Amino acid sequence: MSRRTAVVTGGAGFIGSHLCDVLTRTGFAVVCVDNFLTGSRSNIEHLRGTEHFELIEQDVNDKLAVADEVDVVFHLASPASPADYLRHPIPTLSVGSIGTLNALELAKERGARFVLASTSEVYGDPHQHPQTESYWGNVNPIGPRSVYDEAKRFAEAATAAYRREYGTNTAITRIFNTYGPRMRTDDGRAVPAFVTRALAGQPLQVAGDGSQSRSLCYVDDTVAGLLAVAESSHPGPVNLGTEDERTVLDIAQLVLGLTGSTAGIEFVDLPQDDPARRRPDTTVAREAFGWEPRTTAEDGLAATIAWFTRQLTSGAVR
Ligand code: NAD
Repeated sequence: MSRRTAVVTGGAGFIGSHLCDVLTRTGFAVVCVDNFLTGSRSNIEHLRGTEHFELIEQDVNDKLAVADEVDVVFHLASPASPADYLRHPIPTLSVGSIGTLNALELAKERGARFVLASTSEVYGDPHQHPQTESYWGNVNPIGPRSVYDEAKRFAEAATAAYRREYGTNTAITRIFNTYGPRMRTDDGRAVPAFVTRALAGQPLQVAGDGSQSRSLCYVDDTVAGLLAVAESSHPGPVNLGTEDERTVLDIAQLVLGLTGSTAGIEFVDLPQDDPARRRPDTTVAREAFGWEPRTTAEDGLAATIAWFTRQLTSGAVR
């Protein structure tokens, strides 16, 4: 049987590279499109030169030059961590708008399924808790984080419009905090920051008093959710995340425990517009696809710590 073709924009990034791994293992030919703005060659090095993997190094803000038939387009290209999108505000706006329109055009032209990697950030600092897909959000449209939040809201609007206007087979996923191996140490997100500081024997820096919550989903579960959505005809939006909500302070303490670090915790200033609470309601994903996260925070963090430990000892850590 011939392989189906999946295009993964942002395929050299953290989630995208894990998605490419699973797709190549499960019978897809994968075309990864990435300009390495925040991704890394090392994330896909093991796939380069293999039979069913192709890298197209380009900016998705330029028309996508994918030659063959395409069955599914996963659109993940976008800076994702606050440190990255604050460093790249205009590229974040461009890729969420122009890049999304280009990815949608590709799906429309080829009659492909289109899966948008949107984000829980479209809910902003939510007034509804937990967040269901029907909640419209509470976003500051001009604050520093708006370059990401509003770009993703535009991306969702464009995705919904292509479905309405052209009948493109689109889906919107809203990914909540995902973590795991291949996160960059300097991307500013809590897990890699906590783990690398714990392994270096430095105190973990917790913003505010640490009472703000996050629901951390292990990357394998998020990827399984993206695949389940792709294989369905569901339009979304679909929340993908875990309902296991923990305070940032609890997560820091868990990392200290799992690494055996005695360096303790240092409290630092809370960034502007930092959401106070984050927890998805994942009823839609459970009922529509039977999808739910399978990895506990303890197991996922242990696997992540093991990966960072290997990177640090091999000197490969970025
Ligand atoms: P990442 O930064 O590791 O990956 C993003 C990838 O997109 C990188 O490889 C980057 O080089 C590429 N990219 C950026 N702009 C591009 C452009 N103009 N052209 C081509 N490639 C470009 O981020 P990630 O954590 O893997 O996130 C992937 C997607 O999932 C993003 O769309 C993000 O918004 C979404 N998401 C992630 C999380 C999370 O917790 N990691 C949560 C919600 C949503």
